[in-house]
Amino acid sequence: MYVGRLAPSPTGRIHLGIARTSLAAWLDARAAGGVLLLRIEDIDTDRCVKGAADDIMRDLEWLGLSWDYGPDTGGPHAPYTQSERTDRYLAALDVLGQQGRTFLCTCSRKEIALTASAPHGPSDEGPRYPGTCRDAFRPRPGRNPAVRLRTELGDVITHHDRALGALDQDVHAAVGDFILRRTDGLWAYQLAVTVDDLAQGVTTIIRGADLAGSTPRQLLLRRLLDADAGPVDTLHVPLMLGEDGQRLAKRSGSTTVAAHREAGRRPEAVLGELATGLGLVPEGVEVGAEALVEAWRKLHARA
Ligand code: GLU
Repeated sequence: MYVGRLAPSPTGRIHLGIARTSLAAWLDARAAGGVLLLRIEDIDTDRCVKGAADDIMRDLEWLGLSWDYGPDTGGPHAPYTQSERTDRYLAALDVLGQQGRTFLCTCSRKEIALTASAPHGPSDEGPRYPGTCRDAFRPRPGRNPAVRLRTELGDVITHHDRALGALDQDVHAAVGDFILRRTDGLWAYQLAVTVDDLAQGVTTIIRGADLAGSTPRQLLLRRLLDADAGPVDTLHVPLMLGEDGQRLAKRSGSTTVAAHREAGRRPEAVLGELATGLGLVPEGVEVGAEALVEAWRKLHARA
């Protein structure tokens, strides 16, 4: 049974890049006759904006992108808001701890940068963790420890992404011991998203290509948390670039869905533009989401 998800972070209004990724996730779920859930990813409280989740839902609805389960409707795997699921993250940390796979770390970012062998790691984690606290806890007054995953030789992931092809990685060698819970107590995205995708039965992940690098870490956690978990299908949608060739930032106001609506554009005109970006229709076409399902099916026909 296909289960897909929309997983926006309520950090502001959605821009056309996120709308396009959401359209892709919606079309894939509909083309597969599957279920689509909406999960609000609001664990990074520093970045979340009050009221943004409601705005996101309104923008998606305006575009005609509906979901089967979400914070507004409930569903079999509620709650659909991450800040209400933190007990699950704690339980997962416990499972990993029992496997000897966690350790407490009191290193500061600066110390890691200084001791790391390479200044920049291949991931958003920063440089590969040099292993300072790996074998002995170093309590330091006034500093709350972070929790890291103890990666090991053999933590190798092989995965084929529908858009990008091979996303293979030796997580231990390339990323090292990554953060599960931050020193400020906030849950790391990698842990929260993996726990939720597992618990909510997600079979297909469609998201922006900026998150492709996270996939091996999430697949490793998935394997550790549930050895019987089925494979997960991924499709990382190429990022949409602005006219200046830069990535669309959430802050560039004119590219939000809301700005287009307020400028009097019809949802079909915006959807047409997004669909052109996905290679589904020629430029300048106005089209509803439903009418794109067949084109998506043809373009993404699976063997
Ligand atoms: N919440 C993440 C974001 O908005 C997406 C997470 C995911 O799709 O895995 O960037």
